[in-house]
Amino acid sequence: MRNLVILGGGYGGMKILSELLPNNLPEDVTITLVDRVPYHCLKTEYYALAAGTISDKEVRVCFPEHPRLNIKFGEVTGIAREEKKVLLKDDEPINYDDLIIGLGCEDKYHGVPGADEFTYSIQSIGKSRETYSVLNNLPPGSVVSIVGAGLSGVELASELSESRDDLKIKLFDRGKHILSSFPDRLSKYVENWFNRHNVEIINNSNITKVEEKRLYNHDEPIDCDVIVWTAGIQANKIVRDFPEEKDNMGRVVLTPQHNLKTDEHIYILGDCASLPHAPSAQLAEGQAEQIVEVLRKRWNGEEPPASFPPIKLKGILGSLGKKQGFGMMGNSAITGRVARLIKSGILWMYKYHNG
Ligand SMILES: Cc1cc2nc3c(=O)[nH]c(=O)nc-3n(C[C@H](O)[C@H](O)[C@H](O)COP(=O)(O)OP(=O)(O)OC[C@H]3O[C@@H](n4cnc5c(N)ncnc54)[C@H](O)[C@@H]3O)c2cc1C
Repeated sequence: MRNLVILGGGYGGMKILSELLPNNLPEDVTITLVDRVPYHCLKTEYYALAAGTISDKEVRVCFPEHPRLNIKFGEVTGIAREEKKVLLKDDEPINYDDLIIGLGCEDKYHGVPGADEFTYSIQSIGKSRETYSVLNNLPPGSVVSIVGAGLSGVELASELSESRDDLKIKLFDRGKHILSSFPDRLSKYVENWFNRHNVEIINNSNITKVEEKRLYNHDEPIDCDVIVWTAGIQANKIVRDFPEEKDNMGRVVLTPQHNLKTDEHIYILGDCASLPHAPSAQLAEGQAEQIVEVLRKRWNGEEPPASFPPIKLKGILGSLGKKQGFGMMGNSAITGRVARLIKSGILWMYKYHNG
């Protein structure tokens, strides 16, 4: 029996499973899925979990069941590549024949002193729960600073302001306009929404230091009760520590078949992989489909495709509280209730297909 070990049951890991199970797994292959959480987590909803507007249960999806799928609950600490073993905290190592590493990403603090220690995060379920707890225990009038006005910062700020209008929310953005990679019309729509909901946007900001309950914008101190960091991500430390070439997000540069250049039995997936797009759940799923194609060829003793067509992304959608949204579908910008409805519909479909 060959053992395919998948590290991380996130969007990429789940897609690998759904492509192989129940009927596409060769008889002589077993799968071991390792995750520190005993269920698949809907990371795209962590902003709502942290804001306290959905329950913990709503971001959980059960892993699939199959006689040749072993689910291993544990914390991956490293890979012993010579011995083909995955190392786990306080547990026996796991042997692999083929390994897929889809351990997601972590916050990137860009060397800002104190950011790691004194800010809260929504990059893992555990950290989102801590953020939920601290945000939801705040008395009225408290100041919440959110550093970074990309998709996750905007979603968190809007969700929180809609449900807790007693808080003073400040959204720090590096650019002249928030969501600067989107068309102007869309940035303005989102800025107007924030103006109407009393979220203060601080453009052209540069956070130079963070202390307990205080951040420094261009070295000017600003007192806050809670600071949440949404200002950048990097690949999981397990792959950042690999000796291979990496991009500026610590994502590993791969062959067109998505394996390491030095080992055709180790594939890197999702937020850990250097791909020609920003990390996203859609991208992780598209890449997972291609990895399964490669695996199936190799298991059959055939050559995998020499290259793949670019992974097609359908667009990007963000929420502004429960009723409004914004996004790009192809080249078209959409805003308002329709954008929010489409986003909710996509989530519903995802849960329906994976639940
Ligand atoms: C607030 C927010 C909103 C987002 N919205 C969107 C969106 O609308 N659309 C979109 O496409 N993308 C969105 N994203 C990005 C998307 O969530 C990620 O790109 C996607 O989750 C990446 O999938 P992945 O499989 O690489 O990793 P993940 O889904 O993060 O899965 C990684 C898995 O690895 C496990 N893990 C990590 N480290 C260890 C370890 N050491 N040991 C054991 N297990 C470990 C984790 O528990 C997790 O299950 C959003 C992200 C955030 C934070």
